[in-house]
Amino acid sequence: MARTALVTGGTRGIGKAICLALKRAGHRVAANYAGNDEAAKAFREETGIPVFKWSVADYEACRDGIARVEAELGPVEILINNAGITRDVPFHKMTPDQWREVIDTNLSGVFNMTHPVWNGMRDRGFGRIVTISSINGQKGQFGQVNYSAAKAGDLGFTKALAQEGAKKGITVNAICPGYIATDMVMAVPAEVRQKIVEQIPVGRLGEAEEVARAVLFLVSDEAGFVTGSTLTVNGGQYLV
Ligand code: NDP
Repeated sequence: MARTALVTGGTRGIGKAICLALKRAGHRVAANYAGNDEAAKAFREETGIPVFKWSVADYEACRDGIARVEAELGPVEILINNAGITRDVPFHKMTPDQWREVIDTNLSGVFNMTHPVWNGMRDRGFGRIVTISSINGQKGQFGQVNYSAAKAGDLGFTKALAQEGAKKGITVNAICPGYIATDMVMAVPAEVRQKIVEQIPVGRLGEAEEVARAVLFLVSDEAGFVTGSTLTVNGGQYLV
């Protein structure tokens, strides 16, 4: 069944692959982004998917942005919390701003986006929420105390909210990708990337489309019994 889907950080990387997969599956898709207008324009022209600019770190902006999306495409039935940033630095050098920026976007952003769509989903008796967490939220990562804390928080958020949505037809799930070949990972120095690949049993970085396929499964009408789960997509790098 065709649904209305909103993907945060949908104009690049994993979010872009998710938007394309949802569109191919017949859904009405909207892509949010934060500041890279050039990438958003190119995405819009390439895919025909409408783009909406606001920061997920800002609750009021999320409420207003979601209202704009709903006016154009109808009530949001599928929400993909994908927007995320890194501010990597060892803890002894981490500034309060580097902590806050990552928590505000990667953890509070999930609250800011989910809260305004929640009551509508409850009223309609259907909803699909998928949050893109990370392998580093599961295992922790040197230089990513802020990021690992936020992504682990996303998993707690998912498990708690899943219990609240269950009787209302709303599933809430998380995906923990391993290392995926996007701008975020390609920004890591090549020699560090090589060391990362050596730790992945499958022997390569993942593709954004491989995460998108996992999203498609979780948002399908047929996946109504799958809720509160963490789906690992990491080439066997970390097994829980
Ligand atoms: P990219 O850096 O390639 O893209 C990030 C996207 O998020 C962009 O569209 C960006 O918008 C958007 N974004 C960033 N901050 C905000 C904000 N405050 N409000 C709205 N949108 C925002 O990231 P990836 O595709 O690599 O990552 C996507 C998600 O997957 C993230 O949550 C990341 O933590 C997670 N992840 C990624 C992994 C990887 O290996 N790549 C591994 C595990 C998890 P703009 O273009 O305007 O900057």
